Amino acid sequence: MTGTFTLPDTSALFIGGKWRPGAGIERIAVRNPATEQVIADIPAGTEDDVDAACRAAADALPVWSAVPPAERAAACRAISAELDARAEDLADLVTADLGMPRAFARSVQVGLAVTDFANLADAAEQHVYEREIGTSVVREVPVGVVGAITPWNFPLHQVAAKVGGALAAGAPVVLKPSQVTPLGVFVLADVIAGLGLPPGVFNLVSGAGAKVGEALVLHPVVDFVSFTGSTGAGARVATLAAGRVRPTALELGGKSPAVLLDDLDDSAFEKALRRVMAGSLLNSGQMCSALTRIIVPEHRLDTAEQILAAAAGRFRAGDPFDPGVRLGPVVSEAQRTSVRGHIERAIAEGARVVTGGPGAPDGLDTGYFVRPTVFSRVERNSAIVREEVFGPVLVVQTHRGTDDAVAVANDTGYGLAAGVFGADAEAVAWRIRAGQVEVNGAGFDPAAPFGGFGDSGYGREFGGWGIDDFLTTQAVQRWSP
Ligand code: NAD
Repeated sequence: MTGTFTLPDTSALFIGGKWRPGAGIERIAVRNPATEQVIADIPAGTEDDVDAACRAAADALPVWSAVPPAERAAACRAISAELDARAEDLADLVTADLGMPRAFARSVQVGLAVTDFANLADAAEQHVYEREIGTSVVREVPVGVVGAITPWNFPLHQVAAKVGGALAAGAPVVLKPSQVTPLGVFVLADVIAGLGLPPGVFNLVSGAGAKVGEALVLHPVVDFVSFTGSTGAGARVATLAAGRVRPTALELGGKSPAVLLDDLDDSAFEKALRRVMAGSLLNSGQMCSALTRIIVPEHRLDTAEQILAAAAGRFRAGDPFDPGVRLGPVVSEAQRTSVRGHIERAIAEGARVVTGGPGAPDGLDTGYFVRPTVFSRVERNSAIVREEVFGPVLVVQTHRGTDDAVAVANDTGYGLAAGVFGADAEAVAWRIRAGQVEVNGAGFDPAAPFGGFGDSGYGREFGGWGIDDFLTTQAVQRWSP
């Protein structure tokens, strides 16, 4: 495996405007999933660290909430610019700890984070914070101290949504990033540290979910928890927060449909299938919004299987630093075990393997690699249709016309994303119960609100909507004698 990268200093936590050693001595190892080697370690934060960070954030609340939106926007813009300046190094780090092919790590992982902070700066400036209604002045004010918990699959983009949104809205934040892919986040913290914001406005406490994450959710000064991750952990976070009567926003998993309508001609049908596969295998399928259920007209199933099998064959797996590689490893041994478990269960339940399977790609015995795998001829209630796999695994379903396609698409507990292809795609898109629906392969729009229905959670992030979760409403009634 190739690739060189410069590791950031990951020895300390950022609390109250200073880098300081954690209260404990334990460290968490960070591995390169392509080599399985330990490449760094980070502090395993403790309850004492969480307490110090939360108290620093509470002290910063009156200071940062009084800073005018234009200054908050300037801080977000400065972060965006500095991330952009360090983009190449950041892309190396994301490739090293996540395993995403380098070019995509640069354009998607780092590129989106740069855009997110800039968009949130615009949102801070353009938001209307005050209205007069009746005898009252109604203001949207910062929600208070924000606890932010993020996953490993978009280590900068998901953090940008929360840290950028909170800072833009005037709310201090304590961030608990994923312990699996933390390297880029330490660079981001270094960028923010360099801005000289008031102490406590941004705090970083790395560590395990059950320990640091739960201590953050339960801390008495935390007013709002913004969580992105699995549906199970999100439910746990919301339950704990509810015990304290504190609101949460939950950005959770998905099992999102791509609907190919009847009217596509052969060329458009093939193009749509290739596009869905390319989008869904990006980041080795480790994307909450991946379109992993491909719903095709019943009479075209054989053709769809052939196209998808051929397309999967073009995804060369291997060293993510190699420019010819399109499919990196999944992030960890635990993730590979989980993905293989889903594949084996689907086979045991009688699904047809169109391509792929549970074994490693040829010649890739080191590294957490999984073959791109497509299933078809599946029961609508089987696990492979209903459960999120979070790996390079797709399933083909069939429909008998538009109404049936909508019904199949909506037959899921989740509702995060969807795609529709065909002449009438936009009208059909509005019938799908999902937070973000792309038409004819439009792709992700970072200016649009992102979030889910149902088991995919609630709350919206990014773009102009990206500060709303971090604001709450206050009314002051005027009295005229
Ligand atoms: P995860 O739920 O295991 O962990 C997410 C974060 O929560 C991590 O920082 C983890 O340490 C922390 N955590 C875990 N248990 C916790 C607890 N009991 N209390 C507090 N914090 C806890 O998820 P993951 O494996 O890191 O990420 C993959 C999942 O994230 C997938 O289900 C994916 O769909 C979802 N995801 C959703 C979105 C979205 O925007 N909807 C985006 C990216 C990922």
